[in-house]
Amino acid sequence: MGGQARVPKKVTRAKVAKAALKPQISKILPAEMLTRLHAAHPDAHCELVHANAFQLLCATVLSAQTTDVNVNKATPRLFAAYPDAAAMAKAEPIDLEPYVSTLGFFRQKSKSLVNLARALIEKHGGEVPRTMNELTELAGVGRKTANVVMGVIWHAPDGVVVDTHVQRLAQRLGWTRETEPVKIEADLCNLLPRDRWDLASHILIFHGRRTCLAKKPACATCSVNDTCPSAFEAEAVGRKPIRVRRVP
Ligand code: SF4
Repeated sequence: MGGQARVPKKVTRAKVAKAALKPQISKILPAEMLTRLHAAHPDAHCELVHANAFQLLCATVLSAQTTDVNVNKATPRLFAAYPDAAAMAKAEPIDLEPYVSTLGFFRQKSKSLVNLARALIEKHGGEVPRTMNELTELAGVGRKTANVVMGVIWHAPDGVVVDTHVQRLAQRLGWTRETEPVKIEADLCNLLPRDRWDLASHILIFHGRRTCLAKKPACATCSVNDTCPSAFEAEAVGRKPIRVRRVP
């Protein structure tokens, strides 16, 4: 469902810097655009493989600075060895390292998972708590991780998950002018009905991975290119301004 073809405009450093700071605000209802994006990505869902809340919590912690695909390659062996908080709490971080060594920051991540499992045992009887406050009190768990678990497992997120794709898409679609995840999340929560908060992030992530790529957004085939304020100029929006090298 693409709009009429528009001529791509030349992207300059000046445009990147300007647009990254002030993305245009869309005049089309975000909920309407989200419906069209959902039609383009009806399979949008959380791609971290998990069998329960504990596994999703661990997988989300492991997904920092790497892809879901990489996490999914590592977690089957990890969860076979440490299937729940009780088993993981008894381990030492060094025990987990061989299972997650293919992921970035694996030493720190191993430590985080063991500390997380121990906190779950000490404070919550080994269960994953259900509230934002309780979740974010756990070491290594921020709003993004907590919202992933609350949205995917209990369908009751406290906000919208803002990862790098959601951040870029929200700016390109004109749903926010903010650059800090917590402020972008607040804008998205104001614009979208609560019952769509969880799915919204999955839809935006799928669209960001498949169509609205950071460097080369495929605006010509995008289902909202007739309403997106960044269409055919998107390389300049939602990315850090390009650094200009100074000649000494
Ligand atoms: S920038 Fe292009 S690809 Fe991204 S949402 Fe807008 S029209 Fe679609």
